[in-house]
Amino acid sequence: MAIPITIIKNDNLLFEAINIQEAAMLLAEALNITIPRCNDLIERGYVYNIPYYVKDDEYRFIASKEVADKRRKELEDNNHHNARRIWLVPANPNEYDLESAFSRYETLDWKRSCNYEKGDILFMYVSDNIQKVRYKVEVIEGLVRTNNVTYDSVFWMDDEKFKQSKEWKYMRFRFVDEVDTDELSLKKLREHGLKGNIQGAMKLTGELRNYIMSFFEHDLTEGYYPDEVSQTLEEGKRKTVTVNVYERNPIARKRCIDYYGVQCQVCDVDFENKYGEVGKGFIHVHHIKPLHEIQQGYIVDPIQDLIPVCPNCHAMLHRQENGRYLSIEQLKERILTVAK
Ligand SMILES: [Zn+2]
Ligand SMILES: [Zn+2]
Repeated sequence: MAIPITIIKNDNLLFEAINIQEAAMLLAEALNITIPRCNDLIERGYVYNIPYYVKDDEYRFIASKEVADKRRKELEDNNHHNARRIWLVPANPNEYDLESAFSRYETLDWKRSCNYEKGDILFMYVSDNIQKVRYKVEVIEGLVRTNNVTYDSVFWMDDEKFKQSKEWKYMRFRFVDEVDTDELSLKKLREHGLKGNIQGAMKLTGELRNYIMSFFEHDLTEGYYPDEVSQTLEEGKRKTVTVNVYERNPIARKRCIDYYGVQCQVCDVDFENKYGEVGKGFIHVHHIKPLHEIQQGYIVDPIQDLIPVCPNCHAMLHRQENGRYLSIEQLKERILTVAK
């Protein structure tokens, strides 16, 4: 079956390939690497939204959600080598204060005790007196170069261990979600397929994997910073791009601000008036054109399609109320009608 693949390089359209074979060929030529390797990159890329980096360039691979979901199921059901790998990793709270570390950083450097790679998911089992799976993280760098590792001594409870930790190899992960439920206690894990104890990192499969995954439904880092929110739009089933590409396009953004100014067009806040020098020129830009109106070859009109809004109003525009987004006018109304 032909699966159209869009390749995006640094937010710009690079290729639209009619199928994965063509995409792999084009990419192999562009990057001078082998076609089978490109096949794997593209598959993992469109199924799990894992970008590929070459020096400072970011490549993203996009297929329709339906296609990606279907392929994902196939990969995971067959334990395919491109299936995202899921790990259960113990963390000893007497050695390292993971909870505090997470409340300070979005990403942490962690001992590379297995051959982790970018895109892997780790469920952190907090041992000792807690004995529960508590956190979900995603590997963002399989191997961190030694001179880039952050050795944060403050979270180490055990000095001896901290000294040892300087000899380790590291990977980097980002925090995704946390839960605190007795359903994920050691006892329950054993009832759902865990054999023995959790001594070191172990790959999760089958019932235990599905059981643990079912408790983690959110990405707590998503949806709070609209500038980073990626909404997908589909043009037929041919292509998917992220709409906030338009909000971040520097030229369109500048044209929009030149026209409207830097005042929030919903609540009127002006950051320079409010905060002085530090607020000068600061504003978000929101893309207002409805996704279903966007057609192939669409070029953003910075005045019709974009509007300057403050981060608060912007966040509200990206939230839904009863499944619908509020328009600029509706949000203005809302500010006037909600009791002060
Ligand atoms: Zn505002
Ligand atoms: Zn927006």
